[in-house]
Amino acid sequence: MNILITGGAGFIGAHLTSKLVHMGHTVTVVDNLYTSRLSNLTSVSSQITFIEADVTTWIPNQLFDQIYNLACPASPVHYQHQPISTLKTSVIGTLNLLEHAAATGARLFQASTSEVYGDPTIHPQPENYWGNVNPIGIRSCYDEGKRAAETLCGDFARTRHVEVRIARIFNTYGPMMRADDGRVVSNFIVQALQNNPITLYGDGRQTRSFCYVSDLVDGCIRLMNSDLQATPINLGNPGEFTVTDLAHKIIALTQSTSPLTYLPLPQDDPKVRRPDITAASTLIGWTPSISLDSGLIPTIEYFRSIIS
Ligand code: UDP
Repeated sequence: MNILITGGAGFIGAHLTSKLVHMGHTVTVVDNLYTSRLSNLTSVSSQITFIEADVTTWIPNQLFDQIYNLACPASPVHYQHQPISTLKTSVIGTLNLLEHAAATGARLFQASTSEVYGDPTIHPQPENYWGNVNPIGIRSCYDEGKRAAETLCGDFARTRHVEVRIARIFNTYGPMMRADDGRVVSNFIVQALQNNPITLYGDGRQTRSFCYVSDLVDGCIRLMNSDLQATPINLGNPGEFTVTDLAHKIIALTQSTSPLTYLPLPQDDPKVRRPDITAASTLIGWTPSISLDSGLIPTIEYFRSIIS
């Protein structure tokens, strides 16, 4: 197939690009390189077409069978640095891609997020939970942008008959994350490898569920090629860990001498997060296979190679 991946030079995007190339597809990547890097695509650079562009202002005027929309900074530190661009990327970027899909018959995969559930009052989170999101907080540019993008997908499916697939992606980690990504896995590994203090925000008792990137990419491709029209599907690993658990695991795996240090909890930081993946498991036959301990080992090796 002829496939467009927006945000294809980012962390998840680059893994997806590589997998689709190896499956034999013809891949075009559009990326504005705001938080992503061309070097993430080195291993497939001769096999893809790369275009540096911003989906809010330009998309290629070509026919694609499938479009994966992964364009958007995803780390709170980075999306809050440019909040208006973040919102525009999700809303205007997705709108542009949906118009293109409506005109050409392409199928669109929308990378949505567990952030649509905000600071959840139902745990674990099933897809029919509408969420608890602050519309005017520091996370809103990301959360509300992704929620509006889902709305656009639903409306284009209903009124313009566009084929859309919607993945709600939970916390994902693995090689090719940036050392300065700002998220908990990358921060803790870099801090541990340098024997610097591990920065726990709040009391460290908030929880997250961490999915290894190859599992996640497999789920994305399965969902794209399923018949689940305009049906949001959670993709994440249901194993749930406190941030303190994660710190101890990383200290043990790196044999670090880092102490723990406590910093203020950022505003609107969700207290718990865990996907209910019943729908992914029963409807597309997907469950993640890589445990947190197994996935942290290659992730730590990757960071060791880029920071030493
Ligand atoms: N966190 C932390 N220390 C860090 C970075 C993050 O304790 O150095 C916490 C953060 O407050 C949140 C969790 O780890 O509760 C996950 O944060 P991350 O930015 O990775 O992703 P989020 O799920 O919040 O988008």
